[in-house]
Amino acid sequence: MTPADTAELLTFAAAFDRRTIGKADVLAWHTVLHDIDLQDAKDAVTAHYSRETRWIMPADIRQHVQAQRADTAADIQGPGLPAAIPDADPDDVPAYLAAVKEQRTRAADGQLRPRPVRELLAGVGRTVPTQTRQTGPLTVACPYCGAEPLRRCRRGENGLLVGYHPSRIDAAKATA
Ligand SMILES: [Zn+2]
Repeated sequence: MTPADTAELLTFAAAFDRRTIGKADVLAWHTVLHDIDLQDAKDAVTAHYSRETRWIMPADIRQHVQAQRADTAADIQGPGLPAAIPDADPDDVPAYLAAVKEQRTRAADGQLRPRPVRELLAGVGRTVPTQTRQTGPLTVACPYCGAEPLRRCRRGENGLLVGYHPSRIDAAKATA
């Protein structure tokens, strides 16, 4: 949130509790809530005043938003849900972990939604496509070092390259 967003949030809260808002309030709230999304914060205010009469404080908003993110992430990571494979080389542990983490962050943001049951049921009995289209440098062989698809780029005799040779990235883009 920007300071202007924080002022908007306080005005929104004041609609419920009739508090008066000064510059100092905006600054203090902004210090605590600068990394919170405005809409998430407004949702937290609405949730708070649908539950209790006590004036809402910045900590209430942080707690609500964090709980909300945990819930949303749990929806996507729950048991029985297909784990989407990150577009990263499993042998490259740091890159793979980074990709998984990035995916979970998106899940917590609500950008990844579990498919509704009706949609899943509609697919029953239908032919499943034999190949899922993947993109990225690992899907093609490297024209520079000769690494086969799904294998990392090589450097020297036994070394592995961090990342990919530029010509491989170009080759992958050409086939995408
Ligand atoms: Zn290569």
